[in-house]
Formats: sequence, C-alpha cells, structure tokens
Amino acid sequence: MRKLLPSLIYTNTGDPLIDTVLIVDPEGKILALESAADHDPASVQDLNGIIVPGFVNAHCHLELSHMKGKVDTGTGLVKFIESVVSQRDAQQEIVDDAIQNADREMYRQGIVAVGDICNRADTFRRKDESPIFYYSFVEMFDFWQDHLASKFLWIIKQSTIRLDDLRAMKKVWYPMLPIR
Ligand SMILES: [Zn+2]
Repeated sequence: MRKLLPSLIYTNTGDPLIDTVLIVDPEGKILALESAADHDPASVQDLNGIIVPGFVNAHCHLELSHMKGKVDTGTGLVKFIESVVSQRDAQQEIVDDAIQNADREMYRQGIVAVGDICNRADTFRRKDESPIFYYSFVEMFDFWQDHLASKFLWIIKQSTIRLDDLRAMKKVWYPMLPIR
C-alpha cells in the first residue's frame, strides 16, 4: 500500500482536490482518498504533480500506425483514402512493430481506453495483450463498388482469428456493419 500526495487531484466531478492523500495498492488500484491532515507526513510520498483520470482516445486507427507522418492531410477524403490504401501493403513486420509501439506510446501517455477502427485483423493480438481497454469498430468500405465491400467481408471472415474467438476475448468488439 502506498500513500501519495500530489499537488492536485482531478476526479472529473467538482473542483480538483488539494491536500488529499491517494492510497493505492501494489497494482496501483485506488483504495481511498483521505485528508492529508489525517496522515503522518513521514508516511506519505510527496508528488510534485497533478493526478488525472486516464485519457480516452475516442478515434484511432491502430493498424495504420506505420503510416504516421506519411499521408498528406487537407487533400479531401477520397485522395486521403487512396493514399492510405496505396500504403496498406507494407511489410507485415513493419506493420506489427508500429502497432506495438503505438500501443505502448498511448499507454505511456496516460491513455487507458481507445475506440479503434479496424479493417483488418492485424491489431487483434496486440489488443488482447495490451493494458489498454480497446473498443474495436470493424469498418468496411469500398470505392462505391459493391464487389469490393464483399471482398473486405471475405478477408475478415478468412482472417486467422475468427469472430467467435474475438467475442471470447476480454475486450469488446462492435462491428460497424452486421457480420454473419
Ligand atoms: Zn477514422
């Protein structure tokens, strides 16, 4: 058990707390918030900083992490998507490394939950191992050609991880289109 005394604690309800001791268990789970006046200063670890609730990344494309800085913005949606699609077939090792690095970077930056859009199965294993809570939205789109939409559906269905396996994982999955 650790007793922490930050400069400020934001709880998302009401004003930030001052002179408040945060008591946590060895895993970091918050057990109590108590007045600093009730604790021996020698038993408290003084933190020169602010504690806030974990951040939420509400819109992420983790599987596209290898394209960071490589796609022009401000070009309009169709050109943007064409640019993304043209870079989709990078080496799997590069894609996997970028996914892992982006997941770690988000966690280091205090992100605890992510709404992630996915067109492929590339991120599924990393998400299952990650300390971050992922909500995955399986997205399918095409360039207004019906046969490409059905091709995306086929790719998802043929991926090494089956949808039943996904549902069994501890993370939550929301398909953006019904998947049979
Ligand atoms: Zn998006």
